[in-house]
Amino acid sequence: MKIIESDIIIIGGGLTGLTLAYLLRSEGKKVLILEARKRLGGRIFTKYQNGFAPQEMGATWLGKQHTALINLLKELNLGVFEQKLGDRAIYEPISTSPPQLVSLPPNNDPSFRIKGGTSMLIQALQKQLSPDYILLDQIVKSIHEEGGDMMVKTETQDFKSSIIISTLPPFLLRSTIRISPSLPDSFISIASQTHTWMGESIKVSLTYKSPFWRAKELSGTIFSNVGPIPEMYDHSDFEDSTFALKGFLNGAYFSITKVERLELIMVQLEKYFGAEARCFLAYEETVWRKEIFTFSDYANPVLPHQNNGNPIFQLPYLNGKFYVAGAETANYSPGYMEGAVRSAQFVFGQIVGN
Ligand SMILES: Cc1cc2nc3c(=O)[nH]c(=O)nc-3n(C[C@H](O)[C@H](O)[C@H](O)COP(=O)(O)OP(=O)(O)OC[C@H]3O[C@@H](n4cnc5c(N)ncnc54)[C@H](O)[C@@H]3O)c2cc1C
Repeated sequence: MKIIESDIIIIGGGLTGLTLAYLLRSEGKKVLILEARKRLGGRIFTKYQNGFAPQEMGATWLGKQHTALINLLKELNLGVFEQKLGDRAIYEPISTSPPQLVSLPPNNDPSFRIKGGTSMLIQALQKQLSPDYILLDQIVKSIHEEGGDMMVKTETQDFKSSIIISTLPPFLLRSTIRISPSLPDSFISIASQTHTWMGESIKVSLTYKSPFWRAKELSGTIFSNVGPIPEMYDHSDFEDSTFALKGFLNGAYFSITKVERLELIMVQLEKYFGAEARCFLAYEETVWRKEIFTFSDYANPVLPHQNNGNPIFQLPYLNGKFYVAGAETANYSPGYMEGAVRSAQFVFGQIVGN
């Protein structure tokens, strides 16, 4: 088998990997992204269907504090718009009393969405890269140092480079890729207890012909302690021409079938909105803990964000030939898209010596 050579290999084609390749593109180095899935974006995953509102299965919101992400969006000519909350929400505090309509205070710190869907960011970054920067369907199994070079093995191909950057969530890196010589015990111990942000979540989205909830003077914003949907929002598109409700489903429902999950959702929404809730055009869901290129079961329970941003991830390893990037490694907003962009910027600085 012919070994494919590159100066720099980036493992993972999510926001971190693509931003890093985008930053490195003018450095005159040969860069190659190896992505396990048949698509780019990782935890950014917008489903598009003709005529329907884009349905966000992964990352959705950003805030004004996410300055690195905002600057990147501006650079790529992508716009944002405010998440509709409305001035009233349906609130269900306990199962023994009916849902209530509650007034929401003025929102001084709104969340924003990317016009056209979050995957527009992934597409815009991809457009900046030559197609030979990216190989899909390449599941990295091992990394090893050999005679001063770094070797990468996927299920189907061998690669060689001077520098390797992993952009996998640290726990996934630790649990799915063999590395030799081994990384320090201190790294392995921390990575083994590092939470992958949103890895246990379930996103659900329903598209509708019209925003029927607005005709009932409802905003589409739902907060429920009863569930199975704890929160949901109006997810119509920026132009307000295609309509949707999108939210989270309690992660405990990962083991039942899609049909069973949908029925639970229908029962809850029918309670709030009546029979029209059942007249949806499309239902989409992503059960992230079943996504093997995002989630792997922890040996011991870890808390949300545990060890995210730990300084151990910001060190180079294997004589400066192996770097660990990714949203969870960032020292600001770790776990979030902002963290992904900042980690790419940080590792870029380490590699080019800024
Ligand atoms: C449901 C959900 C909701 C979220 N909501 C928000 C939000 O509203 N706002 C926000 O800021 N953030 C949110 N996030 C977090 C956000 O998605 C992440 O911070 C960001 O996308 C992480 O990017 P990344 O490139 O660091 O990691 P990832 O996107 O996880 O990318 C890692 C890549 O590595 C690939 N890979 C894995 N294993 C291998 C292997 N063995 N070989 C090769 N490739 C491999 C994966 O397929 C993936 O493409 C959410 C995430 C989820 C899941």
